[in-house]
Amino acid sequence: MKLEKYSMGVGDRFGHQGKAQLQAMQALEAAGVTVVPVWNKSFREHSIIHTQPMDVRRAADKAVLAQGWMGGYHVDADHISLKNVDGFIDASDFFTLDVADHIGVAAPEADLAAFVARHKNLVGQHKIAGLSDPLEVTAEALAASARKYLHAVREAGKLYRHIASRKSAMNFITEVSMDETNLPQTPPEMLVILAAIADEKIPAQTIAPKFTGRFNKGVDYVGDVAVFAGEFAADVCVIRHAVRRFGLPENLKLSVHSGSDKFSLYGPIAQALKKFDAGVHLKTAGTTWLEEIIGLAEAGGEGLAVAKDVYRLAFGRFDELCGPYATVIDVQVSRLPAVESVLQWDGPRFARALRHVPACPDFNPDFRQFIHVGYKVAAEMGARYLKALEANETVVSRNVRENILERHLKPLFGALK
Ligand SMILES: [Zn+2]
Repeated sequence: MKLEKYSMGVGDRFGHQGKAQLQAMQALEAAGVTVVPVWNKSFREHSIIHTQPMDVRRAADKAVLAQGWMGGYHVDADHISLKNVDGFIDASDFFTLDVADHIGVAAPEADLAAFVARHKNLVGQHKIAGLSDPLEVTAEALAASARKYLHAVREAGKLYRHIASRKSAMNFITEVSMDETNLPQTPPEMLVILAAIADEKIPAQTIAPKFTGRFNKGVDYVGDVAVFAGEFAADVCVIRHAVRRFGLPENLKLSVHSGSDKFSLYGPIAQALKKFDAGVHLKTAGTTWLEEIIGLAEAGGEGLAVAKDVYRLAFGRFDELCGPYATVIDVQVSRLPAVESVLQWDGPRFARALRHVPACPDFNPDFRQFIHVGYKVAAEMGARYLKALEANETVVSRNVRENILERHLKPLFGALK
């Protein structure tokens, strides 16, 4: 199974927005660019919402049928590990092997020495097509990268082989993710990691590194855009080089996690994709859930009451909700609006605070990131939340569609053919 050149992870936490997400992709396709949807949901999200991987498969199939989508689509077991992969085997055809927790754990000394000896040709200056300066790997850097990443890649290998033993390797796509960690991986480290991935015979089609800068949930990139642009372009070139050198799948591409709402990066990413004729996977999840809350607020009545209750109830559970997302949000209580004020807001005021329009004076990025992690509260509302979604489907799906199409697909993929 081969992943298409352009793909987008479209998390849909409550399984109600598949049609609206597809409509956005169909609109882009009508303009000449095909981006295929990958419905991703992690074990953590399933646990919080009390859903099963097969629910995602069913929602995806139903949306595809309803919209008459003729292109490819996939269901991603997102950020799985050996501990929780088994429940995803039947429902998923895309597996994101998360080995970030294993980074920095050294493999046995003899294995490190063997790896370094096997790849001694990596030491030196590499002329890599597309890079103005040669990529330099010193003997020390090779040894240090092996020490830092070899064990993690081997864990990915174990996980890959576990899945392949239960599901034909022809029937799924493999991603290796290392993004949920604090230190970015440099392009020379990427080269060593890819050598290790090839050694493990993992047919990775996407790799999600930790890029430089902050990728906070639901808001724009925090960091130096020029540094990111250089790093992204270098990674694209290193991957292309590694595909030939190590015999990795020819469609191997970068995956950008927490990729929603990174408005300042879409231009530089698109430029690199165009320049090097490369593909990308943009993974998003919570941006669609935020549009559900925006739509409910706009709808007024019970919809607005639900949106306000999500905030009110979440506010009292700040640490519990923010804790698990510490590396990917930056929220300060002092910058959040008072609950009493929010309870006075009308629907449009609530929507303006939440909708990601940075130029709008009412937009509050802390509020947006906080609601982003507040889906647990909506999950606990159960039928009340789902009924509100269904009763206000028109306004909710309009927000979901416009967000995916206008703020994501068009800026990133619109100019690519
Ligand atoms: Zn991730």
